[in-house]
Amino acid sequence: MKPPAGGPSAFASVSRTVGGALFVAGLVSGTRKQSAPRDTGLGVLLVPGFGCGDWSLLPAAAWLRHRGHRPAAARIGLNVGCTTELVARIERRAEEHAEATGDPVVLVGQSRGGWLSRLVAVRRPDLVRALVTAGSPVLDPLGVNPKVMRNARFLTRLSAFGLPGLLDDDCFTGECFRDNMSALRGPLPDGMPALAVYSRLDRVVPWQLCQDRSAECVEVRSGHTGMLLQPEFYSALAPRLSRWARSRRESSAPEWRCCHAAPG
Ligand SMILES: [Zn+2]
Repeated sequence: MKPPAGGPSAFASVSRTVGGALFVAGLVSGTRKQSAPRDTGLGVLLVPGFGCGDWSLLPAAAWLRHRGHRPAAARIGLNVGCTTELVARIERRAEEHAEATGDPVVLVGQSRGGWLSRLVAVRRPDLVRALVTAGSPVLDPLGVNPKVMRNARFLTRLSAFGLPGLLDDDCFTGECFRDNMSALRGPLPDGMPALAVYSRLDRVVPWQLCQDRSAECVEVRSGHTGMLLQPEFYSALAPRLSRWARSRRESSAPEWRCCHAAPG
């Protein structure tokens, strides 16, 4: 797909922001009525982006609930911790939500939350029905906007001073980095559906880094942080969720109950 001619006009940018805000207001207030299948009931785990909390995905949760799905929050705070530790926490949440819903769950992750979710999908395919990433630099997490990288590096300095729960040097250069990047470079498990949503208007994550070779890549028009506030995102997500829910019902679910298996 060709990039849009020229940069976005200020009017178009403001229109998208206002349109997105109205869309979200409709989702949260419940006043937006959409025709939606209500018999799907997929468990969906929502993983926020770097520096964001679960609150940032409340609109997505509202939309999922409206369609009859069962969203749950990742509960990883502001997503500023060690990669290995966060992947383990998301994995545990996926286990809990799979237990609660009786089936593998769909992981939906924004930005860093997307590639952390991908690592969980590779480690525990028995827990994961499908993967959705939004503006996630799966091809090179360090290739994002230098300002974001400076913020992340600053956290490692705070960590070195003893502040707990933050990224540290090992996450950028050590074993934590090497192990996780190696897993991220590999393909997704056979047969696992995946959707990678990206935007050429994204000024935080270059869109090329979102082109997951194991996923169906879909372009939307959005800035980085507002991607899950855009109707286009939900237009891409809705038919795929319905398809995954149908295929779940038509086929036997993977044996996800063999919890705590060693990563493959
Ligand atoms: Zn780490």
